[in-house]
Amino acid sequence: MTGIDDLPVRDELRGKSPYGAPQLDVPVRLNTNENPYPLPEPLVERIAERVREAARHLNRYPDRDAVELRTGLAAYLTRTAGHPVGVENVWAANGSNEVIQQLLQTFGGPGRTALGFEPSYSMHGLIARGTGTGWISGPRNEDFTVDLAAAQQAIAEHRPDVVFVTTPNNPTGNAVPASTVVALYEAAQAARPSMVVVDEAYIEFSHGGSLLPLLDGRPHLVVSRTMSKAFGAAGLRLGYLAAHPAVVDAVQLVRLPYHLSAVTQATALAALEHTDTLLGYVEQLKAERDRLVAELRAIGYDVTESDANFVQFGRFEDSHAAWREILDRGVLVRDNGVPGWLRVTAGTPAENDAFLDAVRDIKKEQS
Ligand code: PMP
Repeated sequence: MTGIDDLPVRDELRGKSPYGAPQLDVPVRLNTNENPYPLPEPLVERIAERVREAARHLNRYPDRDAVELRTGLAAYLTRTAGHPVGVENVWAANGSNEVIQQLLQTFGGPGRTALGFEPSYSMHGLIARGTGTGWISGPRNEDFTVDLAAAQQAIAEHRPDVVFVTTPNNPTGNAVPASTVVALYEAAQAARPSMVVVDEAYIEFSHGGSLLPLLDGRPHLVVSRTMSKAFGAAGLRLGYLAAHPAVVDAVQLVRLPYHLSAVTQATALAALEHTDTLLGYVEQLKAERDRLVAELRAIGYDVTESDANFVQFGRFEDSHAAWREILDRGVLVRDNGVPGWLRVTAGTPAENDAFLDAVRDIKKEQS
């Protein structure tokens, strides 16, 4: 039988596995940082209306520049981040994964490198590999904060073309202070100058604010966002970025023509009309996230400070065995391969109770 290795695949893909969390059929799934709340019925109706209208024109290609959608996203950012953003500052694609891919196709590529501070979102490194960009793993402190001095040194030493800063960080949950991002930006400019991509996939869940105001006067800074988390629309596949208009022009060089389908654009526009309801769910999830942190600590676990819709907890001698024990109690969490730690997504109050019961039970058995 022919397998991958029998095909003439690129050398750097040989022996590698595709990204993916296990999709197991378990009563309580808290493993992929999804929003547990289905879209509200009035929004479902509005999507149906907008998609019906779009369907009448599916014989035509969609708006290649997604102008109406980008205008709506710019208005959302301006309203929520307290920083004026125009359509010319915003670009959208199929999930922020595609945004990141387009950025690496534009600013990375063969002979170039990207650097991220790990553990962090593993797709940054995987998309780097997929685009032929060399990947450099930068350091973090023991407590998962960014070690600024070590980070500046890594940037000066490797002179990467792209630097990723994920805030709040996945899988650890902690946010990076604005002053650190500014210092990293300055180090990256002194070294090359490079592009600095701030991945704000989880920013709506943060106790603090967005770093969008940092875009002022920093043309090499990009902030990437998604509708997968706060908007509860992971199935939609809509990510976007905010940056200097020149960055938006640059990514057009690599985007596939008509990459965002008319159905996607119509659905995302409907979701934007219901922003306030969806942000109401975010407030509930933030409260549940804070409850998870407090209760996990009360049970006796170590917990990393969280500004996201998930919580990293430990420590376990064997995190994979602990993952299994929690799964045996009907709850799926995530083993991200950070030794000693697991990650749980904030779900509904009932799901979180089921999770807390499971880990309380495990702790009891151990003592
Ligand atoms: N960035 C981070 C930090 C993430 O955790 C994720 C998804 N888990 C993404 C980007 C990609 O999200 P999407 O492609 O659904 O927008």
